[in-house]
This record gives sequence, structure tokens and C-alpha cells, in this order.
Amino acid sequence: MADKITKRQDDYSRWYTDIILQGKLADYSPVKGCMVIRPIGYAIWEKIQGYLDQMFKESGHVNAYFPLFIPESFMQKEAEHVAGFAPECAVVTHAGGSKLEENLYIRPTSETIIWSMYKKWIMSYRDLPILINQWANVVRWEMRTRLFLRTTEFLWQEGHTAHESYEDAEAETMKILEVYRRFAEEYLAIPVLVGKKTESEKFAGALHTYCIEAMMQDRKALQAGTSHHLGQNFAKAFDVKFQNKNSEMEYVWATSWGVSTRLIGALIMAHSDVDGLVFPPRMAQNQLVIVPIWKSDEEKNRILTFARNVYQQLKNHYQVILDDRDQYKPGFKFSEWELQGIPLRLVIGPRDEAQKQMVIVRRDTRQKTTIPAEQLLARVAEQITMMQTEMLERARIYRDKYTFTSTSYDEFKQQIESPGGFFKAYWCQSDTCESRIKEDTKATIRLIPFEQEDKTGRCLVCQQEARTQVVIAKAY
Ligand SMILES: [Zn+2]
Repeated sequence: MADKITKRQDDYSRWYTDIILQGKLADYSPVKGCMVIRPIGYAIWEKIQGYLDQMFKESGHVNAYFPLFIPESFMQKEAEHVAGFAPECAVVTHAGGSKLEENLYIRPTSETIIWSMYKKWIMSYRDLPILINQWANVVRWEMRTRLFLRTTEFLWQEGHTAHESYEDAEAETMKILEVYRRFAEEYLAIPVLVGKKTESEKFAGALHTYCIEAMMQDRKALQAGTSHHLGQNFAKAFDVKFQNKNSEMEYVWATSWGVSTRLIGALIMAHSDVDGLVFPPRMAQNQLVIVPIWKSDEEKNRILTFARNVYQQLKNHYQVILDDRDQYKPGFKFSEWELQGIPLRLVIGPRDEAQKQMVIVRRDTRQKTTIPAEQLLARVAEQITMMQTEMLERARIYRDKYTFTSTSYDEFKQQIESPGGFFKAYWCQSDTCESRIKEDTKATIRLIPFEQEDKTGRCLVCQQEARTQVVIAKAY
């Protein structure tokens, strides 16, 4: 089965696509640039939704739903926003058999339609804050697409909040960024850098954008979530004012934030290997598979009885599969479950049954441990925790190994090609130097990390004195 997967070192991009197609996560659709998310892939999305939704609700957010269509005039109300999004929008011009009086945009994001509603709902400071999230699909017409990472239609969540002051909106953007960081690290087992986008990389219509950035196994960066402070831009565009505590009228402050099905791409690219998918236990649809091995019918009965008992014990705590299919050999079953990334495999052979034990095999390290049946639950729990923790740690070690400090532009230009990675450097904050990096190497300033050393250095490009440290990488 694994022979259908291109070797990662030969062609990373083919490897990625093979893993998704062979693992049955997604498929190409008849509509160019769109994808079909298959049940195995959708189950991961449901996990992402489940955990994040709970985290949003615990921090006071609620869900709502707004229309898919946005009147053209709305899109044009915020100048930067329309300039940023109009080129990649799909527009409905006809419906119900006739030309529409006003064109409708398929939402690329929902700031405009939501702020047109906030105008109706916000009168006074008593109506604030509004902390609404929406789980939805959006459309951005992409020329070059890749499963999960960049598709014309994708699924996401978009939070849109309204606040009394700059400070409240700022606190909200930071709070959500921390939710995203925790989710990436504690659930996806992907370490992330946190920081701010440069002016040229920020969201169209925002004061500033914060982000989390992760390193994939080809050492490229992947923006895994963004949180935008929108200032009063959308309130001004839609004339949303509120009466403050001093009875003065003021424009409302806004934020928006989102993560998408891209995270499934990140999960695959950060952990999977030559044999297929590798999921951290918290993200796997099934945490365990039990594979009993027998030769004779007599063995079969004994072993299956034992295996069923193991299954019963585990099933109250985990999602577990008992693979008692007769028509496949154990080796076939092993590679099938490896391909699908099930974290733990429990193997029970005749000798194991006789000694009331089983062999537990970890998907990520292939490490085998024999455990006595009487310690089943405790030892499985231990393996699950270890695997979740070690996957994050391993990804962090990998990222740190390929994070370099650059002072020479020539050296940087070589290293970004090979081996690639994250490059910490000083930057003079000029657009010229930023775009020069992009033109010369196709790499971009991924973020200005929150953690800045209190020093000055020389701009990587122009060698002028600079205070700002940035991280540069090629990105998805
Ligand atoms: Zn410079």
C-alpha cells in the first residue's frame, strides 16, 4: 500500500497529495479548484470544530449564521477590503432566470455583511461586546490550488466581534491568538511562532494582523491562523456608532479571526511519513486498532474471545477498532492502518493470548511494548499521553534545527534554497527591503515575533541599523 505513496524525499508535493488520496481524506472534484472532503478527512474537521468550538464558547463566544451572498455595494464600502478581495471573488449576476439588479458576491469573508447587521443591533455600550463566531464555507477564486491548503471553496470559522474601545478589541485579538496557539500545540502537536504581520502582509482592511506560523517537514512555513484588529474601519464604512458611557456617539471597534480546513493540510504535512498519515492521538478519529493474529480455528476462537474482551474495556474510553476481518493477512492490515494514521496498534497473537498480554505499537516511532492485560487501561493511557507530547516535542526539535539567524544577505539567499527553514533577521521596516527579499528568493517575512531581543542589529538586506527582528521563510 505504501508503494503507492511517492517518497517524501523524492517529491514532497506528490507525497503530500498521495497521502491524502490514498488515505481517502479528500478527492478532486468536477469543479476545478474545489475538493471533496471524504468521511475520513471530514472526521478530522469535526474534531477541529469540536475542540475549537468549545474553546470559543468557554471564552464567551456564541455561534450565528449569515448569508452566503454579499451585495456588491457592501463589498465596495471599505476601500482596502475591496481592493484586497475583489480580484478573487466569484460574482452572481443572474438568478431566477434574469439579470440581478445588484450583483451578489459569494462571500470571501463576512465582515461586510456582518457589520451591516451590527448597525441594526448596536445602539449603546450596553449592546457591547458582541462576540459572534460563524462556521461556514467561503470562496476565493484560486488559480493554483492544492488539496486542503488552497482550494477555491473551503470551510472555516470566522469570528467577528464588536467592542467599546481600542483596548478591548486588542485584548480580544490577543485572547483568540492564544486560543489558536494552544489548539495548534496541545491538539495538533504543531509548535507555532506567534507574532504580528508586516503592513504588506496584513489582512485587507485591518489595523494590524496577528498570526501563528508553523514549519512543515519540507521546512516551509504555513500560516495556521490569523487574528485581526480591524480598528474602526468597518464601523465607519457601515456607520456603526454607539452611545458610550459619557453619552457621546462613537464608532465601534472590531476584530475578526479565523482558521480553516488548511489546518488538516498542516496536520498532514507536519507529522506524516513514508508509510502514510500520522495523527497525534487527540486528532485521530480512532486512537487504537486491535489486530488479532491466528492460524487455526481453535486459535481463532481463543484469541478473538480475548481480543473482544480487550475491545470492550477500551471502548468506554477510546475510539477503537477490532479488525477481525478474515479475508486479509495481518501484514496487509498493519499497512492499511498505518496508512490511515491510527496512533496505536494492539497486536494479539497465540502466545500473547496464552500469557494474557499484547504488543502495543506506536504509529509515530514504531516502538513496540508488551503490556499485561491487567494493566491495559493504564498502559494505553500512558502511551497516548507520551505520543501526544513527544510528537509536539519532535516537531519543535525539527523546527529549531532548521531555524537560523541570518546577518549576511548572500548567505541567506543560499540557505533559503537549501536547506530552507526559518530565518531570524533584523529588518529596517522599509517596504523596499521587504519586497526585495520576495523578489530575490520568493520568501516572505512571515511575522514579527512578539519576543524581541532588546538589541539593535543591521537590516539583512540594506545593512542599515534596525530594531525589528523578523522571521523569514518560504510559505504555503
Ligand atoms: Zn533594510
